[in-house]
Amino acid sequence: MNRRGHPQVQGIGMTSQRTRARMVERLRGDGITDEAVLAALGSVPRHLFVEEALASRAYDDDALPIGFSQTISQPYVVALMIQALRAGRELGKVLEIGTGCGYQAAVLAQLATEVYSIERIAPLLAKARTNLRSLRLSNLRLKHADGNFGLPEAAPFDSIILSAAARQLPQALLQQLALGGRMILPLGSSAQVLRLVERSRSGYSETTLDAVRFVPMLMGVE
Ligand code: SAH
Repeated sequence: MNRRGHPQVQGIGMTSQRTRARMVERLRGDGITDEAVLAALGSVPRHLFVEEALASRAYDDDALPIGFSQTISQPYVVALMIQALRAGRELGKVLEIGTGCGYQAAVLAQLATEVYSIERIAPLLAKARTNLRSLRLSNLRLKHADGNFGLPEAAPFDSIILSAAARQLPQALLQQLALGGRMILPLGSSAQVLRLVERSRSGYSETTLDAVRFVPMLMGVE
């Protein structure tokens, strides 16, 4: 364990900053242009969010297992989704569905005024809390709940981001989107695409982005 209570992975602690800088350059090469997003991904130590045995692969552009049949999202997809949410404005108050290990929540907290993140698997949320502790993110709140219902007590949200694939647009989440707000989600079952939804006075407009592969959004809590 190091001073901050995290298992110290041999070599990783010393080189992670350099490895992260390389990851950022790769993201730039892959077409991520929002400097604030790149800086946020460059500042969050991704190796703290994966199992020790996988830490050496933490900065590869891959989804990695985090237990409970779930995966940590691929850096490129995290960057792409947040870039689409931000385009031309600030993230504001954010709702994330699917905390998982907490990595994307930590990235969002660098860019948003407030982040609320919901996870349905209690032991995974506990793991996220442990992973996030040393980062001391005072604008991030985690909650054990079914994200299909959103978080009415904290709504409306300027930005909503789903880390699990929905079969259709979740109605509760559409309602909890502020006017001028944006939601991004993986949509579909076996074939999935990223869908960006914007809410304006005249209603909701939708744009389809890249094909993606996410774990499915499930019902209820466990
Ligand atoms: N954001 C995470 C990705 C986690 S994978 C990261 O940074 O790595 C997707 C997560 O969504 C899983 O942890 C899964 O348990 C969760 N999930 C699936 N359906 C959900 C629901 N209805 N409500 C809340 N979380 C859900």
